[in-house]
Amino acid sequence: MKYISTRGHAPAPGLSAALAAGLAPDGGLYVPQSLPKLAPSAFDGCSDLPAVAARLLAPFFAGDALATELEAICRQAFTFPAPLHPLATPRDHVLELFHGPTAAFKDFGARFLAACMQRLPRDSGKPLTIVVATSGDTGAAVGAAFANLPGFKVAILYPDGRVSPRQAHQLGCFGGNVRAFRVDGAFDDCQRMAKQALSDGELRAIAPLSSANSISLGRLLPQMAYYADAALRHLHATGVVLNFVVPTGNLGNAVACVLARACGLPIGRIALATNANRVLPDFFAGADYSAQPSVATIANAMDVGAPSNFERLTWLYPDAAALRREFVSLSVDDETIRATIRERHARHGEVLCPHTATAMHLLDTMRANGSAKSIEDWAIVSTAHAAKFDSIVEPLIGMAVPLPPGLAALLARPAHADSLANDYAALREILAAN
Ligand SMILES: *Cc1c(COP(=O)(O)O)cnc(C)c1O
Repeated sequence: MKYISTRGHAPAPGLSAALAAGLAPDGGLYVPQSLPKLAPSAFDGCSDLPAVAARLLAPFFAGDALATELEAICRQAFTFPAPLHPLATPRDHVLELFHGPTAAFKDFGARFLAACMQRLPRDSGKPLTIVVATSGDTGAAVGAAFANLPGFKVAILYPDGRVSPRQAHQLGCFGGNVRAFRVDGAFDDCQRMAKQALSDGELRAIAPLSSANSISLGRLLPQMAYYADAALRHLHATGVVLNFVVPTGNLGNAVACVLARACGLPIGRIALATNANRVLPDFFAGADYSAQPSVATIANAMDVGAPSNFERLTWLYPDAAALRREFVSLSVDDETIRATIRERHARHGEVLCPHTATAMHLLDTMRANGSAKSIEDWAIVSTAHAAKFDSIVEPLIGMAVPLPPGLAALLARPAHADSLANDYAALREILAAN
């Protein structure tokens, strides 16, 4: 498989080179040159998530040096399940993606990326520093995935005071080869500084750097696997396709679902829930696509004003009218998120994180207005465990959210983050000294 740029003005490398490069040289995002077609029967004999992942991703690794490692990569990355459970309301389900070490779906992508990068050839004997700007969850997942991995360092940049207390603790708890920096600024400032470092050729010549952001193929490809696995299991159990509502920020998780469907997996419709950042819902309602400054919400991992994977969506659906017909999207404000968390708990005893609650509200809305028919099976995608957002969720439900064991283990460790000025020169100095 070769990978082409969404902008179409770059050579088409194989997987290893596309992984190492991150962004295509013309500024576009890498996408597979063609999409394999996999009938459900292609997965016969795949008995668990790593097996489904390896079968699904084999065409994407074909012809690359990593192909012989694919099974080992999947076994190393997918060490925790992605269960599909029924919700209390008829034909509603939840796909739980929070059983990894940092209790958010980003563990799947980060662990897969780390397992791939570990196996890529290197031209320098120096450690490779992964620079990652995070609004909360990505940094922890990347820190956990690369912690203690020989030959790697991680520098996490996060906006001081704008992540939840437990997110902050997680970001600072790894120690060793993973350093956390709390930046006196917003997420956009962190991202700008990280991008500046990655495009600083002089710096990279003395201190090898790489990124792990949500446009990386190493994060996008593995995310297809849990959709494939859930959809196949649901089809076998019930005979019907599963439709999904995905809580969306940068569109990485949602595009993985779209790609899995495009490869022939038995996935029905896909709906996109956002928080008060409404670039996507406005686009789907007919407005021109225009990036906006992000606004802060209680579903902070989705505080994105310029969804970076939108380019992959328009590559898949070049015709804007066709793209608009294909997806339902709704912006859910903080008050509605709070009401949804409160009501699902009061009525059904379900405990949702704020991101998951946006999807729940969109599904409730579609059930109420008939656009999700009563004969259809839908799954909301639960992107994080509610315990990660205890300061928001617990007052709403009036009780403590029990900590999952992985999260409890991380929170029991000491945490430390260095403060960092909102100034590229300060970051450069630290990376150069590394
Ligand atoms: C990152 C994240 C999202 C948004 O995912 P995208 O791939 O950026 O759309 C949603 N929920 C949680 C909990 C996240 O960490």
